[in-house]
Amino acid sequence: MESLSTLCGVPQGLEIVRESSSSATSNTLLSELVEDRRARLNREYWARNPHRRWRHRYLQRCKKYALVPTLVPFTKEDLVDAWGDRCFDCGDPDWDQLDHRTPVAAGGSHDLENCRPVCASCNRRKYRESDRLMIAAFRKEGGS
Ligand SMILES: [Zn+2]
Repeated sequence: MESLSTLCGVPQGLEIVRESSSSATSNTLLSELVEDRRARLNREYWARNPHRRWRHRYLQRCKKYALVPTLVPFTKEDLVDAWGDRCFDCGDPDWDQLDHRTPVAAGGSHDLENCRPVCASCNRRKYRESDRLMIAAFRKEGGS
């Protein structure tokens, strides 16, 4: 009787390992581990490269609002050099967000001129107090 390796055209000496139910379980565990690791690496990548995350989100929002992107790439270091390493509005050194002074949904560009480092609470306040109005005015003018 021919061996399974010969029947399948697998070179002699290589063994075909059949999947048992226990190895199927370990494959599931393995793929979960690989997925966890991939998710962790993604999180670390975006944490190390916030400017890429900002740019990615900007492009997503342009697509969502059917706007043509206006983008001049910059890094977090460029932003800090231009506007300081603190919230532009309140001075909190714990800033972690990017604010588009003219909101993206109101046609705001993604460049150092229009972007500022801000803390989460200032970003929310600005949205409530001015962004919404700017977006509404932009849409009224037929922006998008
Ligand atoms: Zn602030």
